[in-house]
Amino acid sequence: MFERYTEKARRVIFFSRYEASHYGSPEIDTEHLLLGLIREHKTLYRWLPKTDLKTIRQRVDEHSPMRMSIPTNVDLPLSGDARRVLKYAADEADRLSYRNIGTEHLFLGLLDEEGCFAAMLLREGGADAANIRLELVEIAKQQSMPGIHKSIGGPGYGAASGGTIEIHGVPRNAERIREAVQRCRMYNYHWDKRSWTNVDIVIARRTGKVSFNLRLADDTENFDLVKGGWKKDHCFVCRWELFESPNETDHGTGYTNGHDWLCTECYTKFWERPDFFSSSYSDIT
Ligand SMILES: [Zn+2]
Repeated sequence: MFERYTEKARRVIFFSRYEASHYGSPEIDTEHLLLGLIREHKTLYRWLPKTDLKTIRQRVDEHSPMRMSIPTNVDLPLSGDARRVLKYAADEADRLSYRNIGTEHLFLGLLDEEGCFAAMLLREGGADAANIRLELVEIAKQQSMPGIHKSIGGPGYGAASGGTIEIHGVPRNAERIREAVQRCRMYNYHWDKRSWTNVDIVIARRTGKVSFNLRLADDTENFDLVKGGWKKDHCFVCRWELFESPNETDHGTGYTNGHDWLCTECYTKFWERPDFFSSSYSDIT
């Protein structure tokens, strides 16, 4: 269950078990995870400008019923809330393209389980999930993801699949790229080189939802035609942004099958070289 956890994150689980025993709780709950988390990773306080360990500990003391401590060698289960927190932490790591689950993701996982006591304490402390995610995306970029991916380990990730490929100068997880290329190849599409231009769309007046079906615009009572209203797409493989830009050809030109887009780099690197992933993996480091 904890194969993807960083060492620090594993220690958080260990400490939260200790905290639960200390409070005599029959299970590890979210507040124990929180105490374990800030005990293990003190720099996380930067995300809690309005509180400190003493205050959080005090709030947990007030919240917890008086019980006899449980010996630490008793194996306590995770509560339902705590289990969901771990699931959300894994989701956060995936969404932010981290292979490993770290203390930051556990922090976000606690916030995601909105109704739990720990999330309330974090909100009281001034935690802001959106800002934290932005910071983590930046960190991932600066450390250029492979640094994070290198410590993968665990089953299912062989040496080759744990490697990275450079796209647009940024190392990317080779396994994920390979999967995306494979999905591209599932159908016999013809990919056509084209400049990206803004696309007309139709917007439903009542819901604000967007459609590419321009025939809906005939129904002028319910739909508005917005000329050039769709202003960008992403490369299907690497998520590189494509938009109308006659000067920046790497953003302004791509290959399309009429539905999806590939950036020029992914097209030439992967699509034009069908043996890319089956060959020597020479580009994968
Ligand atoms: Zn691409």
